[in-house]
Amino acid sequence: MNSNGLGIHVVLTGAPGCGKGTQARLLKERVAIPHLSTGEMLRAEVQTGSALGLEIKALIDDGNLVPDEMIIKMLEKRIDEDDCKNGFILDGFPRTLPQAEVLDKMLEKKGITLDAVIEIQVPDEIIMERILGRYACMKCGHGYHDKHQKPKVYGVCDECGATEFYRRIDDNRNTVQNRLVNYRALTYPTIPYFEKKGLLRCVDGTGSIEAVSNKIDSLFAVA
Ligand code: AMP
Repeated sequence: MNSNGLGIHVVLTGAPGCGKGTQARLLKERVAIPHLSTGEMLRAEVQTGSALGLEIKALIDDGNLVPDEMIIKMLEKRIDEDDCKNGFILDGFPRTLPQAEVLDKMLEKKGITLDAVIEIQVPDEIIMERILGRYACMKCGHGYHDKHQKPKVYGVCDECGATEFYRRIDDNRNTVQNRLVNYRALTYPTIPYFEKKGLLRCVDGTGSIEAVSNKIDSLFAVA
């Protein structure tokens, strides 16, 4: 993967629960560029309790996507911020073909080219098990799993010592099923779109967090 002199601009994509958030957070530590998660931006708006937040919450809770215009506006504002001048890792955007096309235009206008779109591939049966078991620290957001990644001390966050955890409301079986349907219908078409542009890199996401992260690292090493 090579950089265009303006830092690294990369998209992490894949089905819900494929691990893109986890990998984006790890990658952010290594390449020192911001991790832009549109899901987190939307959840932050929900937290404010605004009318817009309530509208967003209803869509997220049902496993539906928020309208393209809304998310595009939010993302464009974010990538115009100062900390994005050396690049960014996009997590959860683009999620539709129109979003992919707008991203292209947006970056072209700014003289930026995408370096890569990394698809983390995980089969549906593993996805369901991963999502239904995952939870996170209320204070620092560090992620855990009922079976695969328990805190070292029961009920205490390894990272910050907090003792309160939460599960996402949209991490339930019905919503995940709808998220997977939406993924296939609306998000998957972005994969061949980026493949045609020569940007797609596929990574097997079924191994350990560390194994997947090593695979992503190796893409950067091939500069
Ligand atoms: P995530 O945290 O990436 O799993 O996103 C959680 C939810 O936020 C998704 O299921 C969607 O409802 C919404 N969302 C996040 N990113 C987008 C996007 N780019 N376009 C539309 N909806 C989004």
